[in-house]
Amino acid sequence: MFENLTDKLERSFKILKGEGRITEINVAESLKEIRRALIDADVNYKVAKTFTDEVKAKALGQNVLTAVKPGQMMTKIVRDELAELMGGTMSDIHLEGSPAVVLIAGLQGSGKTTFSGKLANLIKSKKGRQVLLVAGDVYRPAAIDQLKILGDQVGVEVYTEEGSKNPVQIAENAVKYARANHINTVIVDTAGRLAVDEQMMQEIAAIKKAVSPSEILFVVDAMTGQDAVNTAREFNDRLDFDGVVLTKLDGDTRGGAAISIRAVVNKPLKFISSGEKMDALQVFHPERMADRILGMGDIVSLVERAQEQYDEEEARRLKKKLVKDQFNFNDFLTQITQIKKMGNLKDLASMIPGVGKALKNVEINDDVFKQTEAIIHSMTPKERENPALINGSRKQRIAAGSGTTVQEVNRLLKQFDDTRKMMKTVAGGMPQMAKMAGRM
Ligand code: GDP
Repeated sequence: MFENLTDKLERSFKILKGEGRITEINVAESLKEIRRALIDADVNYKVAKTFTDEVKAKALGQNVLTAVKPGQMMTKIVRDELAELMGGTMSDIHLEGSPAVVLIAGLQGSGKTTFSGKLANLIKSKKGRQVLLVAGDVYRPAAIDQLKILGDQVGVEVYTEEGSKNPVQIAENAVKYARANHINTVIVDTAGRLAVDEQMMQEIAAIKKAVSPSEILFVVDAMTGQDAVNTAREFNDRLDFDGVVLTKLDGDTRGGAAISIRAVVNKPLKFISSGEKMDALQVFHPERMADRILGMGDIVSLVERAQEQYDEEEARRLKKKLVKDQFNFNDFLTQITQIKKMGNLKDLASMIPGVGKALKNVEINDDVFKQTEAIIHSMTPKERENPALINGSRKQRIAAGSGTTVQEVNRLLKQFDDTRKMMKTVAGGMPQMAKMAGRM
């Protein structure tokens, strides 16, 4: 989402990295470019201006003009200020009380119901809590069904009162139900309207009063750009919420809302949602986001995602097989499944420094594994366990079964063989290296 901004910021730093002497004039020029880049990314004008003023003050304070590497120093100042602008450090969600109540507010279509499902999933799997989802949108019958489906998907109970038109009562009853059933977290999805209106505000204020949430999250669609920031301000004036959730960052958005919302509303951005799947939700980390915006990648998040999928037992089993040269196509398939679980490939690749920009116009299809999987699925169990069995006629059969060609089957076999050799060396070498390290 930030590719264009990343590009433009990089160009503005080039002014300083270029030949010749660094002068106050080209620092000013660079700052002007930075401001323009931010405004083009749909960052609020005032926010962009204050931002570049601050960067300028810092740059002068740190004597960028006489620095050995002024370009790098400016990049560092911009990166730190950008992180600061987006809130500095990560703000966690407050879950207090028994049960802890989380109230979800926002306009209709912003992604409230989808987010409620995702949040339930995250709280359940990452915080190990029990969650009850509450269908408080009584005006849109489809919303209740939608929440039930999401609840099913993430394995969380959904509290509904068919026929009731009283969301305050529903929320109160749901909290009582949770308490009686030892469920420690309640997420209340509320009704939204197409625009901010008095009745909606009164209703949500009444729910707030009735169930005293420890966290109120305001959900807003990032694609609405500056409107997202304005709507957030209106809601906050009435509701005094605790944090913002930006949705649809996978869409065609320039990302400006993510940068300016904190400065305008003075409430932290807590979650970003980038897809319709239940795991497409990320906790917002200002510093990591600043790194991504400046094209520095986000290795920390990448490693975290890998760790989430890391299964120690499985890794030990795999290593044993590798050392004994027993790594087979079933293991290969397991590896592919694990990579796929880490998320969208382009998204993952963009977390590697420099790669996001390089891939800007490249389509990376998550179907890249499809052919490989089809070929492996067309092998017999014996062939998967012992690829040496795969002779010419078997190759023909596998190609026909997977809708590929013998060349493609050959390519995969070669790739598999190379991977196995390489991994065997790495896995076999590890204990020796560890021993050597121990001796030193
Ligand atoms: P609500 O009216 O606020 O409850 O909004 P919904 O949760 O029903 O979402 C409205 C539409 O946006 C639905 O079609 C969702 O599938 C879609 N949606 C929600 N979040 C995201 C997201 O992060 N990315 C994308 N691409 N679509 C989303």
